[in-house]
Amino acid sequence: VVQATAEELQALLAIQEHDTAIDRLARRRADLPARAPLEEARQRLRELDVRRAARTADAEQVQAREQRLDHEASAAATHADEVERNLYSGTISSPRELQALQADLDQLRRQQRALEDRELEVMEEREAIERDLTDLDSERSEIVAKAAELEREVATGEQDVDRDVADERSKREALVATVNEGLVADYERRRANAKNRGIAIARLVGNRCQGCGLTLPSVEVDRFRHAPEGTVCCPEDCTCILVPS
Ligand SMILES: [Zn+2]
Repeated sequence: VVQATAEELQALLAIQEHDTAIDRLARRRADLPARAPLEEARQRLRELDVRRAARTADAEQVQAREQRLDHEASAAATHADEVERNLYSGTISSPRELQALQADLDQLRRQQRALEDRELEVMEEREAIERDLTDLDSERSEIVAKAAELEREVATGEQDVDRDVADERSKREALVATVNEGLVADYERRRANAKNRGIAIARLVGNRCQGCGLTLPSVEVDRFRHAPEGTVCCPEDCTCILVPS
């Protein structure tokens, strides 16, 4: 049983409307349409960063291989040039020695070509990685721009909601000032009860509690309509204060 004047009950009903509106605004703020795509964009950026780091590591490794092969190919070339100079210097006349030098030279040139071929392959591999990195970077900057746009959209949405919430709150505060403090505290306790789902006071329309939607037994409704001791509450789980319509 709640002791309240008819005016206080009307004020509480109005406070309830503002609180319900504030709850709805909080849900709207949490579910702003730009939030989900923004989260997706951020997730995609994290994935791109992981792939970029992996490809950068690949690029470093391939570059090191390319450099090593380049050194080995140059060394083979230098060595072959030396042997070639020696071969055609005219200082060696022994046919057997000349034949051995020619064999050496052939072997060194084969080695040099093999190294150069491998270097070319590795160079192509490096270029493919560089193309990947360029693609990743261009996708990244596209998504960064999109995310910035979505962030602005979220911020604007939040500002709109916050302005509406501030408006609801100031109207609510003005009403709260007109109601007995104990009654407001009672209202807050009922609203905080999880079973009430935010509804602390509701109209009774016919036999139906507008708070929980349940139809009350007629005997309860009669008791309510003729309660000499004050205002009764919904006997169902919602326990909200009932106001006759
Ligand atoms: Zn109820």
